[in-house]
Amino acid sequence: MTTLLREAKRPTVPITEIEQSAFCRTDESLKSKTLEEEFSAGVRWQKLPIEYLKLKPEVIDARIAEAKKALGTRLVVLGHHYQRDEVIKYADLRGDSFKLSQFAASQRDAEYIVFCGVHFMAETANILAQPHQKVILPNLTAGCSMADMAHIDDVLDCWDDLQRVLGGDGGITPITYMNSTASIKALCGRNNGIVCTSSNAPATFRWALEQGRRIFFLPDQHLGRNTGVKVGIGLDEMLVWNPFKPLGGHTPEALRRARLILWQGHCSVHTRFNVKQIAQARAKHPGIKLIVHPECTKEVVDLADCNGSTEYIIKVIKESALGSVWAVGTEISLVNRIAKENPDKTVFCLDSVVCPCSTMYRIHPAYLLWVLDGLNQGAVVNQITVDEQTREEASVALDRMLSVV
Ligand code: SF4
Repeated sequence: MTTLLREAKRPTVPITEIEQSAFCRTDESLKSKTLEEEFSAGVRWQKLPIEYLKLKPEVIDARIAEAKKALGTRLVVLGHHYQRDEVIKYADLRGDSFKLSQFAASQRDAEYIVFCGVHFMAETANILAQPHQKVILPNLTAGCSMADMAHIDDVLDCWDDLQRVLGGDGGITPITYMNSTASIKALCGRNNGIVCTSSNAPATFRWALEQGRRIFFLPDQHLGRNTGVKVGIGLDEMLVWNPFKPLGGHTPEALRRARLILWQGHCSVHTRFNVKQIAQARAKHPGIKLIVHPECTKEVVDLADCNGSTEYIIKVIKESALGSVWAVGTEISLVNRIAKENPDKTVFCLDSVVCPCSTMYRIHPAYLLWVLDGLNQGAVVNQITVDEQTREEASVALDRMLSVV
């Protein structure tokens, strides 16, 4: 299908992006309410049996504990750092998506892996899991707006265009961020490409550059740009590919000149942070330290004292001097948790509006209870599977990452 035809069929902004601000608030805490009350946020939720809607948070809490105990070692619950406290407390391991998937694969006794995170993470867990393990995502509407910005059909068209314009294999290496669908990881696997995380992105870029190749990075243009700068690619050597324009909005000559082609995607959470918030934080708290995630814009990353993955942010603050003051540019559930776990420091979110990742937030504890109840009754609800060919090709790109970093 041509780019223009597709533009007419599919909205240019994914629904997950439109829904991103649904849970933003200025005057309330993020404490869970009944699911029925949270439904009023107006986002898409997966339907579940009506009995779960009115359950009080404390009842859900007690029932999750019981259900989890009954499943014993047959179950592993994984919790991404951006999950709410009422969910993360049941995680056998907290971490970023890759750390969690690797952990899951190492838990060979576990029959069920309940991934409290978003869809692409459960897919990655399925790719890395043992054949007998079943991966479950408690709420199927928990996607990721960034991953949704790179639809495989658009990416395949772009890849074909690049081969055609650049000639041969185009001397171009596809690198996809972990936050992408399994089909995009598979495209990288079969085209000598690689997967990266926010911690090892520079190493994967250097690996491609050392082979004298240009880079096609997706889906996050900001992580791609920030990483490109870190490895010495000039801003004038980078282009952003707009999937809704012919040739991404560029001339063949401009594409041939580029060393880094960035997919036009972003994280709806991390692009909320801006230069004005930084100026305000520095004015209000002289001597403050600023740490942000590299999915933030380059302007924000440039003004921060340091930037890195969630694991890096947690470590740096934990190891900082007693009494230090930190403004943090990442998801609010994690920032609140870091603040709680570092009572000897002052830690707050750079954005004064409380605005959780709306897709992560859809893992309400009632959904966790629902899938655990199902397992105790012998029903596997919301299993995530990746087809065999995609799994094999995506594994190549994931294995390549492990051999490079
Ligand atoms: S924080 Fe951003 S990248 Fe992470 S799941 Fe949410 S939308 Fe996706």
